[in-house]
Amino acid sequence: MSDITSNADLLERSLKAVWHPCTQMKQHSGGRGAELPMIPIARGQGAWLYDFDGRRYLDGISSWWVNLFGHANPRINAALRAQLDELEHVILAGFTHRPVVELSERLSALTGGKLGHCFYASDGASATEIALKMSFHSWRNRGRDKKQNFLCLEGSYHGETVGALAVTDVAIFKDAYAPLVRTAATVPTPDARKAEPGETPADVARRAAAALERHLETHHESIAAFIVEPLIQCASGMVMYDPEYLRLARALCDRYEVHLICDEIAVGCGRTGTFFAHEQAGIRPDFLCLSKGISGGYLPLSIVLTTDTVYESFYDDATARGFLHSHSYTGNALACRAALATLDIFAKDKVLEQNVARSQKLAAALAPLADHPQVRHFRQRGMIVAFDVISDDPKFSRHFYRAALEQEALTRPIGHTVYVMPPYIVDDTEIDHLSRAIKVAIDTTLTS
Ligand SMILES: *Cc1c(COP(=O)(O)O)cnc(C)c1O
Repeated sequence: MSDITSNADLLERSLKAVWHPCTQMKQHSGGRGAELPMIPIARGQGAWLYDFDGRRYLDGISSWWVNLFGHANPRINAALRAQLDELEHVILAGFTHRPVVELSERLSALTGGKLGHCFYASDGASATEIALKMSFHSWRNRGRDKKQNFLCLEGSYHGETVGALAVTDVAIFKDAYAPLVRTAATVPTPDARKAEPGETPADVARRAAAALERHLETHHESIAAFIVEPLIQCASGMVMYDPEYLRLARALCDRYEVHLICDEIAVGCGRTGTFFAHEQAGIRPDFLCLSKGISGGYLPLSIVLTTDTVYESFYDDATARGFLHSHSYTGNALACRAALATLDIFAKDKVLEQNVARSQKLAAALAPLADHPQVRHFRQRGMIVAFDVISDDPKFSRHFYRAALEQEALTRPIGHTVYVMPPYIVDDTEIDHLSRAIKVAIDTTLTS
């Protein structure tokens, strides 16, 4: 057992020994008086996180968009306990095991069998890199050596490793490392907020697709794949767009022989209302990237699903024509078992159906904010509600975050965009708690 038994202990030792992600560590120094005090967490239960003194926070962002069915979920816990006694991990090169086979079959079935081949890794950025490498290599195996470039959307986010940064267009993550990165071309985002008076989100989608068409017309011979986050560009501020864009993009990718990669690392697993976001456009991608919620928020796991056509382009006598990529923990049995338990919950509890009412309740609870004089673009899709706040405070996001914590809610605005993305187990009382916390935080932040 750990000898860390108090908030003070945990904080002091964390700040000495742990380098926290996406963080200027100096902002955490100075204890309680720090610009951003570090929050100690002793345990989690359902939608709540608790410190050693019993102070609690409602996890309004699913612990960075990963947790689907609450912390310490009894069903996922039980599945993992059973798996621990059976097999924790085995090399996946040349060996195989039940959880990885069952998970691959079930995911493939969820794509109607269209994406029947599953390749495994441990995090989202690796899934992006796998899709990019696989696309490039697949074209090369078919004699299309010139297809070496990638295309992404303005404001796209596909992870932060050097390879994934190539298709990530978020300045804060990219600028410092730009000299290391082989940047892909970007095309305009179909962001529905760009609608001119009288335009619908579908009109914006068509305009953006026309720009995509112009780009592909000129450059298709050198482009291997176009990568998108279907329906919502989450990391650049919950940018929502019309499914029409995906329909048109699919048709253009077909016409110009360019792979379509759907990065559903954040928007998959029911987040947008359907199990996969791309289903809302009635299309299938050539590559589908999953991570985050797929293991219920328990263990690092990512998966790239692809088609028979891509798979067959690698199937050969020559080793060098195979897909040459591996990670030590590829297909980890515990992570796959957590994912199977997660899929079981979706099926047994009819989660997508239940989430219809839950997402309506969430939007209704926050709806009064849409009329706030400093709120713009109140928007929702499935289990994400977001809006933009007009404020000239350059530290708005930090101030809001602290104010919401005071109200026992974990949020993490992106710039001036406030959003909620809770686990799919929040009940009405918890939704009310979250929306009240957000209202108070808006008021405190805008008046201080
Ligand atoms: C989080 C995220 C990634 C990267 O996943 P990591 O596990 O953080 O590497 C990639 N794409 C999208 C859309 C994401 O939201």
